[in-house]
Amino acid sequence: MRTVTVVGASLAGLYAARALRAQGYDGRLVIVGGEPHRPYDRPPLSKGFLTGETTEPELALADAEEEDELAVEWLLGVRARGLDARGRTLLLADGRTVATDGLVVATGARARPLPGADGLGGVHTLRTLDDARALRDALAGTPRRVVVIGGGFIGAETASSCAALGHDVTVVEAARLPLLPQLGPEMAGFCAGLHRRGGVRLLTGVGVLALHGRASVTAVELADGRVLPADVVIVGIGAVPETGWLAGSALAVADGVLCDGGGVTALPQVVAAGDVARVGGVRSEHWTSATQQPAVAVRNLLAGRTVEHVRPAPYFWSDQYGVRIQFAGRREDGDTPVLVEGSPEEASFLCRYERAGATTAVLAVDRPRAFVHARRALARTGESPVPAG
Ligand code: FAD
Ligand code: NAP
Repeated sequence: MRTVTVVGASLAGLYAARALRAQGYDGRLVIVGGEPHRPYDRPPLSKGFLTGETTEPELALADAEEEDELAVEWLLGVRARGLDARGRTLLLADGRTVATDGLVVATGARARPLPGADGLGGVHTLRTLDDARALRDALAGTPRRVVVIGGGFIGAETASSCAALGHDVTVVEAARLPLLPQLGPEMAGFCAGLHRRGGVRLLTGVGVLALHGRASVTAVELADGRVLPADVVIVGIGAVPETGWLAGSALAVADGVLCDGGGVTALPQVVAAGDVARVGGVRSEHWTSATQQPAVAVRNLLAGRTVEHVRPAPYFWSDQYGVRIQFAGRREDGDTPVLVEGSPEEASFLCRYERAGATTAVLAVDRPRAFVHARRALARTGESPVPAG
């Protein structure tokens, strides 16, 4: 291959570039990025970046020296708009084309917008650095009334950051508990308690009917008739994979780019990784997958066929209300959480999820060392190292 192009200049894109060079690819390497920025890390955007603990330079994923070593041709601030049927010519939004022998799709996901919120001032989503700058500016100064729509990851983390900044915060979550699909009812109940302990009002089991305001938002009307006055609204209702630019290409798309277990798409010289990729039927929207999938996808790209499969080891963390939540494994509805050490009351514990006597997943709250051991044991044997307590 003489030219490999990576579309998406973020976490999975950068890791793909690193993997290409590490695996001996020394041809032309082009990275196309829709944002004007070099790759930066998103997790701090909802946490330390909002509260002022993390500065912009600290977000950079690579330093200048590494960027030189990668010898990348950066095309930033321009989106890919199309891919020809053979997957050999990339069309850019400014009309340029890039001829390529291999392609890595790493276009991630975008924030799902709230219907009816278009163009209304004071309403924020949070996906990019520019989004985070705008939200941080809106939160500067006097205490504001903040309504957070969605009690998932974005919702919980931004609510926690807003509360730490002294704002008056209400979270509205459509489900009966926040993070219910990820953690199950018992542990989701614990997370609901974190909001309340952090001084944040949590309204669950209710959707949003409308946003009020002329130029700027003034209130959020809920489906049950309640009206919440608001100066700032943060919408965190999920993410949508960035696949629109692939319409008309030969790639199969269904809530993500469909790939085999090795990240290879319908075309052998096109692979996908990160939030945009449905690898072996599964799409993961977490940092660790976006860093693990590219090396495998790139190996298969360079081999011209699938020689390796991703070994998924689901893991995520979330920092909220001063605690770190860590989760690994595959929990299913009906699995029973069993406390291993610590206690929810002290907001520091390790628990494992059990099905038919076997451990399916592990969850830790502020127990990083115990979690490392439990996660390792789960990956090795599917069993927790600690007997049920
Ligand atoms: P993205 O990071 O979404 O990058 C895709 C890039 O492609 C973007 O820069 C986008 O502009 C670009 N792009 C899109 N379309 C095009 C196009 N047509 N042409 C060119 N470029 C394009 N995960 C965790 O596990 N723990 C956390 O604590 C955590 N916190 C998070 C906090 C926030 C605020 C957010 C938004 C996410 C967080 N995540 C966290 C999730 C994690 O950041 C993502 O899983 C990760 O960023 C995915 O990387 P990616 O490279 O696949 O996609
Ligand atoms: P998310 O985790 O999918 O959570 C969205 C939440 O909003 C869900 O609980 C959803 O409930 C609820 N919701 C949907 N529509 C609603 C409505 N109209 N009114 C009220 N609630 C509504 O998505 P997210 O928090 O927006 O995060 C976006 C992306 O960033 C995801 O990919 C996420 O993984 C990633 N991220 C990850 C982390 C982390 O891993 N720590 C941190 C930040 C962001 P239902 O499920 O019932 O629809």
